[in-house]
Amino acid sequence: MLSSSACSASSLPALPGVFVITGPSGVGKGTLIRLLRERVPELAMSVSATTRRPRPGETQGVDYHFISDEEFARRVDAGEFVEWAEYSGRRYGTLREELDRHTSGGHPVVLEIEVQGARQVRETLPSATQIFIEPPDEATLRERLIGRGTDDPEQVERRLKVAEEELAAAGEFEHVVVNDRLHDAAEQLESIVRGTMTA
Ligand code: ADP
Ligand code: 5GP
Repeated sequence: MLSSSACSASSLPALPGVFVITGPSGVGKGTLIRLLRERVPELAMSVSATTRRPRPGETQGVDYHFISDEEFARRVDAGEFVEWAEYSGRRYGTLREELDRHTSGGHPVVLEIEVQGARQVRETLPSATQIFIEPPDEATLRERLIGRGTDDPEQVERRLKVAEEELAAAGEFEHVVVNDRLHDAAEQLESIVRGTMTA
């Protein structure tokens, strides 16, 4: 079982263009989203809150809202999260105010979140489009996670262990994109997003 606590948010009304991009750590979500946003510049990015420490090069308020365990817990109790989950010993979540900031102006927005959070969004925001990114195989996932160079060997193993369960969840998702050749995957992602935006 993945460790998670259910989010207390009640169901939200349909919002314009909310895209949930999920899949195991190291599969290429961040890389693909960067390419997607070059192709579809009107897409905004929801900045998540997390209790993990910033990596070198990460900026407060840009990559994440880096907050303490205490602040995260307080905001959970105050019902400020649309979804949140514990991942590899840290907490991550989407703040309702962050989502509102984009959707209230009618702007489409991308949530890059792990699988437990995506499941919560499926309940609270069923109009969101959910896309699961899959690696071509598990060995490639390992290579990418190691090759990225942001996680120590223990973190890599923890993330790969979670990935086994996450990969088993691919069938739950409306859209699955295999990130083998980057260009092909970015094209597929763009086509799903544009197809939904014009639907
Ligand atoms: P995630 O956001 O899912 O954790 P990243 O976007 O950080 O994953 O990608 C993990 C690593 O894999 C990065 O070093 C990235 O450059 C690399 N990568 C992503 N997609 C591909 C691909 N299609 N082929 C080869 N390497 C890739
Ligand atoms: P990382 O530590 O590599 O930045 O992120 C670890 C995992 O947490 C990734 O799978 C990432 O998609 C996920 N994540 C990032 N933000 C959120 C969030 O707001 N909610 C949830 N549920 N997961 C998130």
